This record gives sequence, structure tokens and C-alpha cells, in this order.
Amino acid sequence: MISMNNIIFNDIYGFKGNSIHKSIERGDWDNTKALLDKGPEWIIEEVKSSELRGRGGAGFPTGLKWSFMPKEKNKPHYIVINADESEPGTCKDREIMRNEPHKLIEGILLAGYAMQANQGFIYIRGEFVQEAIALDKAIKEAYSKGYLGKNACKSGYSFDITLHRGAGAYICGEETALLESLEGKKGQPRLKPPFPANAGLYGCPTTVSNVETVAVVPTILRREASWFASLGNKNNTGTKLFCISGHVNSPCVVEEEMGISLKELLEVHAGGVTGGWDNLLAVIPGGSSTPLIPSSICEDIIMDFDALKNVGTGLGTAGVIVMDKSTDIIKAIWRLSKFYKHESCGQCTPCREGTGWVMRSMEKLIHGNANIKDIDILKNVCDQIEGHTICALGDAAAWPVQGLIKHFRPEIERRINNYKLLKVAE
Ligand code: SF4
Repeated sequence: MISMNNIIFNDIYGFKGNSIHKSIERGDWDNTKALLDKGPEWIIEEVKSSELRGRGGAGFPTGLKWSFMPKEKNKPHYIVINADESEPGTCKDREIMRNEPHKLIEGILLAGYAMQANQGFIYIRGEFVQEAIALDKAIKEAYSKGYLGKNACKSGYSFDITLHRGAGAYICGEETALLESLEGKKGQPRLKPPFPANAGLYGCPTTVSNVETVAVVPTILRREASWFASLGNKNNTGTKLFCISGHVNSPCVVEEEMGISLKELLEVHAGGVTGGWDNLLAVIPGGSSTPLIPSSICEDIIMDFDALKNVGTGLGTAGVIVMDKSTDIIKAIWRLSKFYKHESCGQCTPCREGTGWVMRSMEKLIHGNANIKDIDILKNVCDQIEGHTICALGDAAAWPVQGLIKHFRPEIERRINNYKLLKVAE
């Protein structure tokens, strides 16, 4: 279990207040000028050395991503914060924005400076009303203190932040759809390349980063990269906010060290699985798009990017959805299929047609109204969607179903056989 000394988000539950005065008491905005004075290269090198990986789901090395921005500045550079947190099971960024907004704002300033941007945008999900109010207040406070605007923190550098509210489409959490939406267009993903670092917002170099990723940067720079890198495991360093929901006794968002075991995470912080550990059926470890893992794998698995990848799933957003033995596992995954079908933007055929097809097939499997060979057809369709679409929503729709077939095929077959027996008896 993580020691209190290593916690970054000291008030993630909002017990102490989110004002700038309370934030300063917690250590935010502590001589930010000294960090800026060390220069953009120093910031990027520190973030690289910390081995911080993006907290928005993909887990790409943050410092490396930031270094993709052009060194020369022929056009404006932008940093855009993806605050569209819409992945089912994920509820961490909203806690940061509501309760510790100054960590994010200071992080945007430092990240923006590192990438030679003078303008940052926060693209926040439309439904996050309280979070938008908290951020709006925090941005105004930062301006009034001289931390943002002209000569930000007396560094000689100018930096502005604009808060932009979205309209609640899941696909706008995909970085290029987010940029389209920010430009006032329909939120549909762009074909890549070009990547945003070359042609992003308004055709200018842009980096899109997740809320949690940027919010931990000020602490990493203050406490040094080596401190962050000493937590967790090689290539999976630092602390992480885990969102634990579903069949546990105390659902919660909690900051823990990367690499904590799933069992410890659930038992220490979430009060354990309802009915006890032996009542566990399966866990979706990283938000709804990551394939589930059955209880046999949950026993020993640790929560980091590489360990979860090795068992065919992913850390994703660390949205841990726990399902006990009372769960209708096929219906649960069908519900996710329905979600992805609803959220498909419809641009590419495998996703537009495939998500609907998968949802309808899953619906039949709930009752077993199918043939055994339909399981293989369903898997084949998922394989055809995966990797053949413009954006990752296609993968996100395929993975939960592939995970279900991989780990719960006997249950699917049992329902099909039962259904047949019932029909014969009628
Ligand atoms: Fe749109 Fe789906 Fe294609 Fe993504 S994969 S661009 S959501 S149709």
C-alpha cells in the first residue's frame, strides 16, 4: 500500500476545499517560476526520466509524446487537455477537476511552456457542470494571482487557458474528434497521419493530453523525476488514480502505486468483493473497452500496463469494474456492445455496420437463441473490426466481446444448448 508521503492528490475527495489558497497550502503553485526558469528542454527531459505514461488509456510515454512537437515555431503551438472522460467505469479526472483544479492548471502552464505553446484549451465533457464551474473559478483565480496571462508567474512568458464545454459525445474523447469539435465542427475522428503534433488544432502543432497526466507533472518536477520513477515498476512508474466500481462493498476512486495487486486494491480500498473474494466472477480492469479477465487471473495479477497486456487486457484508464457471480456476464458485455454501437460516429464501415451487428448477435446470445457456430462468426466479425477502422472505437467495441468469448465460451455454449432443449420440450 502506498505511503501517504507519496500521494500526489492530497484532497481528491474534496474535504479541504479547492480554492487557490487551499491549493497553495497543499503545495500547488509553489515557486512555479523556478520550474519555468529551468527551460522547456529540462521539463521534457524530467518527464521522460520519470517514465510517466499517459493516464488517458493508451499509456504512451508522455515525455516522448511532448518531444514530437516541432522545435522551431513557424505557427502557434497549442496544448489541449482531454477532459471528456466518458469511458464507462472511469471517474477519476472529474475528481481532479472538481477538487484539485489547480494541479491541472499549473500542469497545463508547465506542459504548455515545455512545448512552446502560449495557449491551452481544456475540452471538458458537457455533463461535467460542477467540474466546469470549479475549473472556471480556478482559472480566474490563477489569472488574478498573475499565474496565467501576460508574464505568467513573472517568467516573462505569456500563457492563456480557455475552458471549452463539449456536448457529451463519447467519440469526442478521441483526440482528433476532440480537435474537430473544438474547431466548431462535427466531432468525427481524423485520418492519421498527419498527427496532431504536426497538424492539430487549426492545422497547427498540437498536443492533446489527459487531465491526470498533466495534473501530476508539477509534483514530478518539484519532487524530481527519480522520485516518481522509484514508485511502481520499470516502465510502469509512479502513482495512479484507480476507479473501482461494481460489485465491491465500497466503490471508490483511490490513488495507489502502480503495480499494486488487483486483490490488494479491491480488499484494502474497496472493502472487498461483495460476498467475499471467492464470489468474484470477472473484472474489467481498465474501463469498458478493455477485455475482462476471469477470477482465476485476478488472483495474482498486478495493476500496470505491461502485466495486464501480458494477460490479454489492459490498464486503460484504470476504471476497474468488478463483477461477482450474480452477474449475467453475457448481458453485461451486450450492454457495452449497445453503448459502442450508440457512440459510433458512423464514418467507417467496419465500425458503423459491425457495432450494430455485434450488438444484435450479443442480444441473441443472452438467451442462447443462436447456433454454436455463431460464436465463431461473432469472433470473426470482431476480428474484422479490430484494427480496421479510423479510430480506436472499433477496437473498443471488439475487445469486450473477444474477451467474453475467450474466457466464457462454455457459458455461451451452455445457454445455446439449454435454449435448444427448451425449444424441443415446447
Ligand atoms: Fe467513427 Fe467508429 Fe470509424 Fe471511429 S471507428 S471513426 S467512431 S466509425
